[in-house]
Amino acid sequence: PPVDIFDYIVFGATGDLTMRKLLPALYYRYRDGQIPDQARIIGTARSPLSRADFQARAEKALQNFVKPADLDPDLARRFLALVHYVSLNGAEAGSNWPGLKDLLAEAPADRIRVYYLATAPDLYGRICENLSTQGLVTDQSRVVLEKPIGTDLASADEINDGVGRFFPENHIFRIDHYLGKETVQAVIALRFANPVFERLWSSDAIDYIQITAAETVGVEGRGPYYDKSGAMRDMIQNHLLQVLCLVAMDPPGSLEADSLRNEKLKVLRALRPITPEDVAVSTVRARYGAGEMGGKPVPGYLDDLGENAVSNTETFVAIRAQVDTWRWGNVPFYLRSGKRMAQKSSEIVIQFKTTPWSIFPEKPAANRLVIRIQPDEGVMLTVSTKDPTPTDSVALRQADINIAFEKAFATRYPDAYERLLLDVVRGDPVLFIRRDEVEAAWRWADPILQGWAENKSPLETYPAGSWGPDAARALLAERGHRWHEDMV
Ligand code: NAP
Repeated sequence: PPVDIFDYIVFGATGDLTMRKLLPALYYRYRDGQIPDQARIIGTARSPLSRADFQARAEKALQNFVKPADLDPDLARRFLALVHYVSLNGAEAGSNWPGLKDLLAEAPADRIRVYYLATAPDLYGRICENLSTQGLVTDQSRVVLEKPIGTDLASADEINDGVGRFFPENHIFRIDHYLGKETVQAVIALRFANPVFERLWSSDAIDYIQITAAETVGVEGRGPYYDKSGAMRDMIQNHLLQVLCLVAMDPPGSLEADSLRNEKLKVLRALRPITPEDVAVSTVRARYGAGEMGGKPVPGYLDDLGENAVSNTETFVAIRAQVDTWRWGNVPFYLRSGKRMAQKSSEIVIQFKTTPWSIFPEKPAANRLVIRIQPDEGVMLTVSTKDPTPTDSVALRQADINIAFEKAFATRYPDAYERLLLDVVRGDPVLFIRRDEVEAAWRWADPILQGWAENKSPLETYPAGSWGPDAARALLAERGHRWHEDMV
């Protein structure tokens, strides 16, 4: 359904995120009739651009990032008419605010306002303070925060305090775009609409779980920026832990935001601490060296960073995490993320236990449920069945029950941002991260980062185009487990 009329004010509107994700996502929602023609998208950044200049940039963004078949020139023209621009240094108080104030004052005072902060996070507090001082925070105002919310617990607290002084928690929308992905939400449907899975969803039947987010890209031009972060801060602390929460949580009482978020929080708080001393046992960190991608040689991470680069930053992480609850007992949750890996793939693998006894000549292989998040969303259940090849006895063969959603439902899978951007307008925070979740996630991640900073486990190297260092394989082999790519 269409949402109410709103003003979407983006800070950092000339940046990569706005062009690549936000504007295309809003275009798709406009195309689907969900954005009213009276809505306004107001870009702000320091660059001195005219409205026409910014509209031209927005048009280019649509041409670059909307599928050509979906880009209707007439529709795009009408969409671009919603787009405004104000040159503004959001972090500075004083004289540069009248442009935005005047524009907002043209609309009724009770119109929904979304302040989307797509600048560096250290500006979030100051931007919110300025919005408040300028009298721009109304009862109908919400603020959206992009990741990263800090680089550790202390800096996350500082950001959350800075924003929390001017917006109540239920008006703060912390984006984790993984939660906007259809298949990530499909985990909730799969688990809680299908007793056939949920009845088995515990250490009784499950041997171990893997959550992988593998990218083929390296750091390219963004090396110096990435180097301050690394795979743990960029992927594990936020996206992978959120996926883990949906896989591991108990059934929420309802799909109401706090009901779901309370259950996720319980999981985060039940994560067994990995102390700095434990990192050598439970974690593997590595960075890519030179290698090959698609038959072409590619340089290693240090070369990507630049000449004479010195770095202790990981581009690959594998962790054996434990959720200390009745349900999960000693089931390991293997979390893994890396750049320059063999394949682009985000997936959850649920490896079930084998039969307690076998009546067949060979012990049947364990069932496996794979939930594919990207690049092709789907669910696959591997089962053992009778091999039809004539033999003297009953031989078994593994086969897959495989659903590719896009094909099965003959529908386009929307980008994660499309859903999330309008949830903010609707004021529905169910797919956004509450402050206590961010804190619990950092509380778990901080000691690991500390152990690594103190070099308590070696920074390994893996060739670009591989599945990571041997140590990642060894981390699972210790318990007789294997990564998904080694199973087939
Ligand atoms: P970016 O390309 O560097 O853009 C930063 C934007 O902020 C520019 O529009 C810049 O424009 C503006 N800006 C800087 N200082 C400002 C100020 N004082 N007042 C107003 N505007 C200011 O960064 P990005 O990649 O778009 O990322 C933006 C945020 O989203 C970051 O927090 C990033 O971590 C997060 N994020 C990005 C992605 C992504 O895919 N790019 C994904 C997830 C999260 P002017 O120089 O004209 O002011």
